[in-house]
Amino acid sequence: SKDAGGGKFHIYEPQLHVEAEERRRLEVALRTAVEQGQMHLAYQPVVDATSTKLTGFEALLRWVHPEYGPISPAKFVPLAEEARLIAPIGEWVLRTACREAANWPSDVRVAVNVSPDQLHDPNFVAVVASALANSGLTADRLELEVTESVFMREGTGAVRVLERILDLGVRLSLDDFGTGYSSLGYLSRTRFSSIKIDRSFVQGASKGVREAIAIIRAVVALAKSLGMATTAEGVETEAEHQMVQELGCSKVQGYYFGRPLPVDEARNLANQRRWN
Ligand code: C2E
Ligand code: CA
Ligand code: CA
Ligand code: CA
Repeated sequence: SKDAGGGKFHIYEPQLHVEAEERRRLEVALRTAVEQGQMHLAYQPVVDATSTKLTGFEALLRWVHPEYGPISPAKFVPLAEEARLIAPIGEWVLRTACREAANWPSDVRVAVNVSPDQLHDPNFVAVVASALANSGLTADRLELEVTESVFMREGTGAVRVLERILDLGVRLSLDDFGTGYSSLGYLSRTRFSSIKIDRSFVQGASKGVREAIAIIRAVVALAKSLGMATTAEGVETEAEHQMVQELGCSKVQGYYFGRPLPVDEARNLANQRRWN
């Protein structure tokens, strides 16, 4: 990972280094992982920052290889993206998340991570529509999380795909805000419902790093003025919760409120409708 202009905290996601040989093995294994039933989704609670009431879950992809064991998505998702395997895997994620979330109470949403590759395929709109139709999940209960990197590529293809997804009534959130390519232009062009503030800022802020606090404050103000919500990611302690709440974040997510859960536990939690 790269240090931001000599600052005290890292604002880039740690890039896991995968050796060439391991990379080749994983890529081969990835090609058949979905069809061999090696993948499943874990659901992490997202709660209202003030009431701590459950608002939804983020679906997170899990891969347990029969021989290699569990492999982190931080490792295999970038590999799948490079090997051009993320579109079929991502389609499986979307269909599975919609089907599983359709069993939850109707005020509980599901957020699904989407890779740039998927958004650069015009057919993706039809995939989203079909995932909704087949599952019976209403569009307003689905939120797609996209990262700034989607706007880095040439052309406006992805922007048009995002617009057509919004037309379906699906929500969009901007993931890992501030950790990648930074241009605010697209924020005014694409109607995001919320901006997700990366854990690195939350951590920095709780350690008293002034720049991190300033950035969270600025993002919250920017989001508010654009009519968007903010979700603080990676909240691990009560102190961090208090800090981001005081800074005005609308929603929180992190180990303090819950780890990513197996689908049955997520469903039970959603049905309890209560926190604690
Ligand atoms: P992300 O979208 O930023 O997801 C949040 C990550 O932070 C998850 O890691 C989650 O388990 C972790 N996390 C949540 N709360 C805390 C906390 O309090 N402390 C700490 N230390 N970590 C926390 P995970 O599940 O390992 O996923 C890593 C990344 O892999 C995701 O980052 C996302 O970029 C990618 N990913 C996961 N599932 C999918 C998927 O279905 N499709 C795509 N395209 N990418 C995915
Ligand atoms: Ca995410
Ligand atoms: Ca994130
Ligand atoms: Ca992240």
